[in-house]
Amino acid sequence: MDCMFCKIIQNKIPSKKVYEDDGILAFEDVNPQAPVHILIIPKKHIPTSLEIEEEDNELIGRMFQVANRIATDREVAERGFRIVMNCNSEAGQTVFHVHLHLLAGRAMHWPPG
Ligand code: AMP
Ligand code: ZN
Repeated sequence: MDCMFCKIIQNKIPSKKVYEDDGILAFEDVNPQAPVHILIIPKKHIPTSLEIEEEDNELIGRMFQVANRIATDREVAERGFRIVMNCNSEAGQTVFHVHLHLLAGRAMHWPPG
């Protein structure tokens, strides 16, 4: 399958890994938009949030727990951080393998751009 994030999971494309377990991988975003910008992905290929099914509920929940753990480890949990999942083109999704963006280390604006 021609999916960049599946290739990262398979170590065919290098990444700066932050966390890994049986079902989840987290790595540094190659084009960071904040001092902390980490992507948290399921090892299961799910193209967009629209394809998340009931059987994925535990996996998706654990992605948030991984994000919380990384935010705590990076000492940004108390200051605050943002978790984003873009879906399809108007939201700016460019890689069609679901991922959480963990963004932190600077003040975030609202509404988002
Ligand atoms: P999105 O636009 O929500 O689909 O986010 C895709 C993210 O993946 C962007 O923030 C990119 O900078 C990031 N990205 C693309 N290719 C790589 C890569 N090889 N390693 C790490 N991050 C990547
Ligand atoms: Zn994939």
